[in-house]
Amino acid sequence: MSEIWTPKGPGLQQPAGGIELPKGFSRKRTEEKKPEPVAAPVEEVAAAPVAPPPPAGGQPAARPRQAGRRPEFLFPPQGVQVRCPSCGTPFTAAVFSIVDLGANPELREPLLGGQINAAICQNCGSGGALSAPLMVHDPENEFLGVLVPRQAQLQDMQMQRVIGEMSKALMGRLSNEQRRGYMLNPKQFFDWESFLEKFWGFEGVTPEMLRMQRDQSELVTSLVRLAPDVKAMQMVAERRKHLINKDFFALLGQVLTALSQQGQKEAAESIAAVRTHLLNTTEAGSAVKATEELLRGAIARLRPTTGREEFLDLLLEYWEQGEDGESIAVSLLTVARGLADYQFLLALTARIDASDDPEVRSPLLSLRELVVEFIQQAQQGQAQSQEAMLQQVQAFLQEVLQAANPEEMLRERSDEVSEMFLAVLASNIEQAQQKNATFAVKRLRSVYAIAVGILEEKLPPDLRLLNQLVSTKDEGEVRRLLQANRTLLSTEFVEGLRGLEDRFRGEKNNELAARIKSIRVQATMLL
Ligand SMILES: [Zn+2]
Repeated sequence: MSEIWTPKGPGLQQPAGGIELPKGFSRKRTEEKKPEPVAAPVEEVAAAPVAPPPPAGGQPAARPRQAGRRPEFLFPPQGVQVRCPSCGTPFTAAVFSIVDLGANPELREPLLGGQINAAICQNCGSGGALSAPLMVHDPENEFLGVLVPRQAQLQDMQMQRVIGEMSKALMGRLSNEQRRGYMLNPKQFFDWESFLEKFWGFEGVTPEMLRMQRDQSELVTSLVRLAPDVKAMQMVAERRKHLINKDFFALLGQVLTALSQQGQKEAAESIAAVRTHLLNTTEAGSAVKATEELLRGAIARLRPTTGREEFLDLLLEYWEQGEDGESIAVSLLTVARGLADYQFLLALTARIDASDDPEVRSPLLSLRELVVEFIQQAQQGQAQSQEAMLQQVQAFLQEVLQAANPEEMLRERSDEVSEMFLAVLASNIEQAQQKNATFAVKRLRSVYAIAVGILEEKLPPDLRLLNQLVSTKDEGEVRRLLQANRTLLSTEFVEGLRGLEDRFRGEKNNELAARIKSIRVQATMLL
């Protein structure tokens, strides 16, 4: 559980300027309580448009969704200016007034995770929940609730007005059949904690379980803080032994991975030592050890030659072993990632189709669900990291363009000058051309030329020569380059040229193919 989901304590400062709606932006929940800010600008809260007008005769569910775009929300959030109470940086946060989990089930997880109406400062990283009122409709559980955080400081009358407006906006988007009795009296909550406990309850998670999670994550935090003093760490853990169960070990494992990834070797080693100690001295520890043993055995059975059918047999064997089966199956999928593809999915489906016996089909069907989820998550991760990389490249380009001496910056950070950088540059040039931004085009082109030069310098000499040869149209220059680099010419070089020639001919780029042919002929004569 992240630290932002149970806001305590209001924002420390009144945001200066901007819309003042979510002034309760709070710091970490461990923060001391600071005095409440005075007088909430409630008029703005109540007057804020709660939702866009419903489309004429439109059915919410039938709204078109654009493929590949962000999901459309029945009640889209509004961008609201907030000021970080910690460092004062102003930024825009997305604020939801109404969330309809019937129309937007994808919001359930962010809601449970405390990511709705929460903001994290890009500057200093402190985060908190916003104190804006929020109505959540959960038709699946026949529940309508509204959170009016105490920090919003609404008086009863104002609160009833806000709730009334929200209800009206929600009803306006529901069809007659969708309107139900429970909506007439939305349940009121005054803090995030009890509000979220309600939704966790629908998931079968009790407040006790939530408290357990919270305490466990606090224990891990204090362990990390005590590192590298392994003795002290062990003492703290002993004192809170009741928190140590399977989930605790999982959490500890995640922290361990994160620490090693961040290069915090010493802290990681101390956590590992405490983990080993707890594995050997607690009941939960021995159970976890047994599972790990089982998992090691399972992984040892994977061979480089393992085919998809064989892999399926292996997964199925563990899958049917009960409680630990799922976690072992997930680990096997992770280890043998290359085998878990669409072909594997087809093999699995073929096996399902081949049987009428429900006892054979049932584990296969549930296993397929897991595999589909696994593949989807892997793809999402890939797309996200590509997106992140593109953003990084674009940010670097901005820096270069703003630099007093772009060439110097490009050279200093030449490892960031990549094929992708060139591609991003090219698309920027195209966009600038479309806008007739002559100056920008010129500047981008000069950066492009420098970047190409830097990339060329990074190439092995023969490839660099090839690049230079292909990019010049002057026959005399080609001859001169070939003569000057005679030592680089070889049969492989000529063969490489032939390959290029074929490729460009295949791409119907006959002019370039002809030019390469002429280079090749000249190079052959110099061999
Ligand atoms: Zn900040």
